[in-house]
Amino acid sequence: MKKQFWTSILGLALATLSLSSNAVSQEVPELTLQQAEQLREQALESTLALDITASLTTEVGARLPGTDADKKAVEWGMAKLQSLGFDKVWKEPVSIPVWLRLHESAEVIAPFPQNLIISALGGSVSTPKNGLEAEIIHFDSIEALESSADGSANNKIVYISKRMEKHSSGRGYGDAGPARFRGAASAAKKGAIGLVIRSIGTDSQRSPHTGVTSYEDGVTKIPAAALSNPDADQLDRILAHNKTTTMRLNIQTEVLPDATTYNVIGEITGSERPDEIVAIGGHLDSWDQGTGAVDDASGIGITVAAAKLIAQQQRPKRTIRVVMFGAEEIGVFGGKQYALDHADELAKHIIGAESDGGAGKVLALSSSVSHESLHVVDEMLKLMAPLGVVRSSAKATGSADFGPMVRAGMPAVGLVQDFTPYFDIHHTPDDTFDKIVPEELAQNVAAWVIFVKLAADWPGRFN
Ligand SMILES: [Zn+2]
Repeated sequence: MKKQFWTSILGLALATLSLSSNAVSQEVPELTLQQAEQLREQALESTLALDITASLTTEVGARLPGTDADKKAVEWGMAKLQSLGFDKVWKEPVSIPVWLRLHESAEVIAPFPQNLIISALGGSVSTPKNGLEAEIIHFDSIEALESSADGSANNKIVYISKRMEKHSSGRGYGDAGPARFRGAASAAKKGAIGLVIRSIGTDSQRSPHTGVTSYEDGVTKIPAAALSNPDADQLDRILAHNKTTTMRLNIQTEVLPDATTYNVIGEITGSERPDEIVAIGGHLDSWDQGTGAVDDASGIGITVAAAKLIAQQQRPKRTIRVVMFGAEEIGVFGGKQYALDHADELAKHIIGAESDGGAGKVLALSSSVSHESLHVVDEMLKLMAPLGVVRSSAKATGSADFGPMVRAGMPAVGLVQDFTPYFDIHHTPDDTFDKIVPEELAQNVAAWVIFVKLAADWPGRFN
């Protein structure tokens, strides 16, 4: 009884406290705003993000989850954070499947024999050793395939020809992407023995775009590949002759026993609220054919550099945590594991954001924060205005890796990048360091230091 009484008094007092802290609109300290402005200018001059991106893509290169290169990337991440003077550096295990690409080829057998350039989709099963040969059945979209009659693709290779549209928002990915995400399962349900899709990409190079495809339990797993855009154009012209078109597809892949990769984490400890975390980061892994420069070494470079620049100026009041997520490409394994491992720390994650949109300029700032804290986002926008950043009305999602944390309740912002060039090289052999424009990368860091600095030093909460 007595205990209950004191507990309720205490509860009341706490409630009053939090009420009063909400009632007074907490301004961002003037010094923080000045420091953020200085940081912005420093970031525009700094080559740190570029140096980090060059280091990862050159010293490790491609880093498919579960491979030796992936292990090297984890070591690289630990060493990089340590050498930059982060206060705490550690890694957390993530259990993953391991898939390897061994061989991929395709040819039209009839009516006009010729080779086509393909890339096996991530996770694809193999064809028989000498490939499989079958008639092509063409669909304009995954919706057309899914609404076709049962058995429509019996013993055939399904070809989905939908083209991804180029747009600065990257919205074409959402339209065209499902052909890759679930096309193999959808085609198998109609009786198909193989799937080829037009690459989910906006270029006209003979560089096909890979990316993960998923199968469904209880549905036959069929081999799946993407044609480069010019090869898809060629197949479209062949099909326009309305003659029976047959293709030979040979995909050889290997699934190794499950392995362990890691989320690599570094922290700058906060001076006043060390238990409260501003969480940022990118993903450490990449596809196997390029060197994962824009996806996502640049995101690692941007966020590590932002944290480092802030720490160099003055210790942030809250802790800044940088997470290099493992195994994003094959199914957000690191992001999901992080949310599980840190579920009891959810309330300590004051706000978070991931950089996983390449190296193009930040165009807009989105957020998912309380109405009471929107004025802090307004202050961020004021400081970002000289960088050309405007408000986005979209709700921040935390991107792939912080998505599970945001869905659990972590507030987030999104530094929305220009996707115009991104989907030309996304998941292709052309995702290499030379594609990064140094000034645009620096502009990213300049926007990130503003977000992180204000979030770390403003005393209020975002939810
Ligand atoms: Zn990515």
